[in-house]
Amino acid sequence: MTSLIHRSQFPLLAAAPELVYLDSAATSQKPRAVLDAVRDFYENDYANPHRGAYELSVRATTRYHAARERVASFLGVRDADCVIFTRGTTEALNLVAGAWGRANVNAGDEVVVTGAEHHANFVPWQQLALERGARFRICEIESDGTVDLDRLRALLSPRTKVVAFAHVSNVLGTIAPVREMAELAHRVGALAVCDGAQGAPHLRVRFDEMGVDVYAASGHKMLGPMGIGVLAARRELLERMPPFLMGGDMIEFVEDDHSTWNVLPHKFEAGTPNAAGAVGLAAAVDVLEGVGMDAVRAHEHALVASAYDRLSAIDGVHIHGPGADARGGVLSFTVGDVHPHDLATILDTRHVCIRAGHHCAQPLMRRLGVSATARASFYVYNDASDVDALAGGIVAAKELFGSVAV
Ligand code: PLP
Repeated sequence: MTSLIHRSQFPLLAAAPELVYLDSAATSQKPRAVLDAVRDFYENDYANPHRGAYELSVRATTRYHAARERVASFLGVRDADCVIFTRGTTEALNLVAGAWGRANVNAGDEVVVTGAEHHANFVPWQQLALERGARFRICEIESDGTVDLDRLRALLSPRTKVVAFAHVSNVLGTIAPVREMAELAHRVGALAVCDGAQGAPHLRVRFDEMGVDVYAASGHKMLGPMGIGVLAARRELLERMPPFLMGGDMIEFVEDDHSTWNVLPHKFEAGTPNAAGAVGLAAAVDVLEGVGMDAVRAHEHALVASAYDRLSAIDGVHIHGPGADARGGVLSFTVGDVHPHDLATILDTRHVCIRAGHHCAQPLMRRLGVSATARASFYVYNDASDVDALAGGIVAAKELFGSVAV
């Protein structure tokens, strides 16, 4: 199995042929096209968008707006003004919990998340519930890491105001039944919030058809620059929601005793935006659509299925989560009593980069009964040799540690 996009397109990978990069769920490598787009913006069209009447600032504004249109079409959002640029998924989810949550969640209400959430989609809701006197409820996941719709249904009531869940788990790789979960949330009048940090980079997202009210994603996990992300949300929701950050650009009029707000998307983009990041993200989605998101999914599925088989065959390896067909390109595992950090360190001596730790999902680690796992995650530049290197590294680590208690 060859890579979907050759590593020669990624300057860092091209310069380090020995490197086996299996940590794309944390952040992806950047193709030359993205680096070139960012550089081109700074070299040719750089000024503060929306600020100046001069031609250069108009050019910067035009590129920033074009980036929004491009990212909106990639995510299947017809109304591009409903795509808000943020620093990433964390900021997007905090925006919704902070702005919508404070205005709509009250004492006695309930806020529901799943037991598999990343802290970015757990802590803001937990803290909102604590602040508002609401009840924070956790939908437990099944032993294979999936969400059972009956269990979720039983947890919801007319008091439920929010159901927040990941499109794809960053630890287990589980792909959520997004449409069905959103429908259950809507049946009780709750907001359906989808954390797409691990969804948008790997699966075809059609926001307008998915049924969720909110979808958040991070550019750096989908070939784009760090420090840029998106919040896509329904127009009525954004219009009714108070602003989150206050300052330049997001106002209409500022009187001495009150202010009024700008139209979408500006109402939620206070201050100087990360226009270069947005331009880079637009170039990233061009690259992804160049190969097609169905091909991205098929490629990752083939890699993860092969890795799943190879790792399962190694004595002492335990893979957490569902089978390869029900997951994205993420594989979390433990190897007997070898600590995941030791495993990652040994793999690093063989130039294999994997993540080890709690993956910003301590509640999930407790449910799995472990303090940490090792995680390999695949993307468009990986190929069969990377799976070989991973499996070979694990076998070598086992030999180094001697007998492994299972
Ligand atoms: N949600 C999930 C599922 C993630 O995997 C991550 C990052 O790993 C985040 C949220 C947070 O993303 P960011 O750090 O880009 O804001």
